[in-house]
Amino acid sequence: MPLQRTVARQIKCSGIGLHTGKKIDLVIRPAGADDGIIFIRSDIPSRPEIKAIADNVVMTNHATTIAKDGHRISTVEHLLAAFSGLKIDNAIVEVSSDEVPIMDGSAAPFVHLIKMAGAMTQEREREYIRIKKPIKVRDGDKKAYLLPSNDFKIHFNIEFNNPVISAQSYLLKFSVRNFEKEIANARTFGFLDEVNILKKQGLAKGGTLDNVVVLDKYRVLNEDGLRYKDEFVRHKILDAIGDLSLIGKPIVGHFLADKSGHTLNHTLAKKVLAQKDKYEIVRIKSKEKVKRYSHAHGELALSTQ
Ligand code: ZN
Repeated sequence: MPLQRTVARQIKCSGIGLHTGKKIDLVIRPAGADDGIIFIRSDIPSRPEIKAIADNVVMTNHATTIAKDGHRISTVEHLLAAFSGLKIDNAIVEVSSDEVPIMDGSAAPFVHLIKMAGAMTQEREREYIRIKKPIKVRDGDKKAYLLPSNDFKIHFNIEFNNPVISAQSYLLKFSVRNFEKEIANARTFGFLDEVNILKKQGLAKGGTLDNVVVLDKYRVLNEDGLRYKDEFVRHKILDAIGDLSLIGKPIVGHFLADKSGHTLNHTLAKKVLAQKDKYEIVRIKSKEKVKRYSHAHGELALSTQ
């Protein structure tokens, strides 16, 4: 059975905060089995802990922000996606500010960092959330569904009134390899007029063409262009992987989204956790089998990969 994993050793980096423009130090170190991902504000003397769970989400506009006892950390989603994408269940993350550094706007630098640290297997089996019945949320023409499936896959559709993005659709069959190859490098993006408004509000101070794909009405302003022609929808998948990881366990199910974003992803995560009859906690027996773990109703075998 797959066992939980943490990072094998402590590793550090620093980067710029997208909103504050400040230099931020980030330390990732091993955590115990069942600890999950725990953030620590290392700039505050009491070093408050903020666990990366849906209950601690306090804001979802532009980025996902978690908080505990008034201490917050924003833009957690790309780092959480890297942990989830590399199947790291447990880690402690020290951040010297109220946001995770933006790095290059993708999850690739975090993937690189975590791989440098290496993974360490722990003496505890990994539990999964297997979706048994559809769980759906909608907001106008935006939707985010989790549907029963024998493996984790993400199908995302976006549509923007902009000729560079237009309509894009992508299906990710989740695996560490596919995450690294197809999703991890996709950068966050924004429109020039929006970026200017944010800067006027004192936000996005650290936003540059080094960490955001910026579009005007007709084109990409970054000199080197895009990393994939459908980089936008791939980044939306990256965000969704980070946001859904706040459910607390990896998912066995099909995430289907139209024009979803942090807010709807989070609404879905909360709805999943509130509807205990629509999922079950399982342990995967092998690559092919899922064993029913909770409630001891006997065994349930189904293929998973
Ligand atoms: Zn993002």
